[in-house]
Amino acid sequence: LKVELLMATPQEQISESAKVCYGTKLIRDGGKDITSTLVHEHKHLASLRFAYATVAIEGVSVACQNQIVRSKHLDFMVQSKRYVNASKGGFEFIMPKGLTRKQQDMMMTAWIYSKSMYEDLIESGVKKEDARAVLPANTSTKLNVTGNLQGWWSFFTLRLNSHAQSEIRELAEKIFDLLQLEYPLVFTEDVRTRLRN
Ligand SMILES: Cc1cc2nc3c(=O)[nH]c(=O)nc-3n(C[C@H](O)[C@H](O)[C@H](O)COP(=O)(O)OP(=O)(O)OC[C@H]3O[C@@H](n4cnc5c(N)ncnc54)[C@H](O)[C@@H]3O)c2cc1C
Repeated sequence: LKVELLMATPQEQISESAKVCYGTKLIRDGGKDITSTLVHEHKHLASLRFAYATVAIEGVSVACQNQIVRSKHLDFMVQSKRYVNASKGGFEFIMPKGLTRKQQDMMMTAWIYSKSMYEDLIESGVKKEDARAVLPANTSTKLNVTGNLQGWWSFFTLRLNSHAQSEIRELAEKIFDLLQLEYPLVFTEDVRTRLRN
């Protein structure tokens, strides 16, 4: 699993967008950053919609992707299995964590069989967009996800939680790490702990 930050608007945009409400001085004019008070005390959450972050995700399963794209306030660009080819290393199998050696072997047997059927179908003239029907839910994929910070907050609320499925939970932790570096006043450790429980 690999997650990278592609783009992010500066944290101070959150604070600056809300100062029109109070007539307070902007940071560039010597004012303070009021992000923390806005978000954590006043719950002035519209301010979170003035900053956007985009992440690139690689090495998640299609099953995980199906959960990610249910987030209504995020947007997505996902790898197309109509164009990418498994035989050129385009995708792999994402092994669920915590399986015994024997269970992993069972999964690998099914994966090797499906992949070879997929390749044979293509070889026999079936289009990739149809041959992909035999690939399992844990075939790997890549996607870019973008959204404003309130959209990301909703994602963390659902997916850092202990009820979320393990693959998406691990992904949510990694994205939280990245966004915490960019927005330390928003995505604090306190928030993470609260959302996990
Ligand atoms: C543990 C877990 C198990 C799940 N299992 C299943 C399952 O078995 N089957 C299944 O189909 N889905 C399942 N889901 C997906 C779930 O039903 C939601 O679709 C998904 O989590 C997005 O939730 P959301 O719409 O609340 O949040 P988001 O899409 O992140 O939206 C954020 C918030 O915006 C508001 N909002 C969004 N859309 C609307 C709207 N149309 N009208 C009014 N307010 C809106 C709501 O306040 C919402 O909480 C599961 C999710 C989780 C976390």
